[in-house]
Amino acid sequence: MTTAIGVVMTEHIVAGRLEDHRMSGTLLRYPEATDELDALSSVPGSELVDKLAESIATLADNGSGPVDAIGVAVPGIIRHGVVEDSPNLTQLKGMRMAEELTRALSVKGISAPVHIANDADAIAAGVAATRGQLNKLTRVWTIGNGIGYGRWPYVEGVWEGGHTVVTLDPKERFCGCGGVGHLEGIMGYRAMRMRFLDLEPEEVFAHAKEGDLRCREFVDLWHRALAAGTASFIHLAGPGRFYFTGHNVGFLDLKQLRSHLETMVKMSPLLSYSLEVLPPDDGTALLGAGVSAIRALAS
Ligand SMILES: [Zn+2]
Repeated sequence: MTTAIGVVMTEHIVAGRLEDHRMSGTLLRYPEATDELDALSSVPGSELVDKLAESIATLADNGSGPVDAIGVAVPGIIRHGVVEDSPNLTQLKGMRMAEELTRALSVKGISAPVHIANDADAIAAGVAATRGQLNKLTRVWTIGNGIGYGRWPYVEGVWEGGHTVVTLDPKERFCGCGGVGHLEGIMGYRAMRMRFLDLEPEEVFAHAKEGDLRCREFVDLWHRALAAGTASFIHLAGPGRFYFTGHNVGFLDLKQLRSHLETMVKMSPLLSYSLEVLPPDDGTALLGAGVSAIRALAS
């Protein structure tokens, strides 16, 4: 039996114990009860590492056997245990997280190897594991404050799909990274608030349904942008399964997305793609973080 501890750190921290790729016992949350979107953004990085170590230690004590691996899913560019950039948790930028967390855990007597994964990659791993498709290419878009792109199996690279350039319009400059024409600059929550200073994103989508022309045009652009990003990945890595999830996946109309995608992908070997919405669920990323950590042991 393999035992892993999986942790997700996005708008909040959720941690759980996994026995043979299955959740066992209860999940720990920090902060305990809040729907606040920015609950972690003002917490210093070192404090976040302490919080992670605390949750992991509690879970390690909860089970009978030793822990084989610890997986942590974090938004941003993650390479070799280092958070190279994290636009939505800026305090983590440059942090050698695997090293720091390993040190914090060793003080608590825990020596299992720590593996840090990008949060969207972890969701892709979690979906692949739950569906018994760990040998297939699985791609995930996460739609939230930022736009994440994840894939399983893991391959070396940056994969910042949310920053795919989807328009040449020089006025499209709302992306959190500062880049012009980016997918996240159209679809991201923060970007939508900057574009519609008079309306919240929820109101924009609601008014579009009621027929408001300006909102309808934007909602169409939002779907066209996602179709463009998806079409680019189909043209690069081939058709296959795409999943859509995240805090704001409720804005997505799969029919509208599909109709745009059909105008963008025309070559017959590329048409066998599938699109599916997954309700946002920390459990999937948590599972994927653990699965990635166990797989990393073998490599
Ligand atoms: Zn960007």
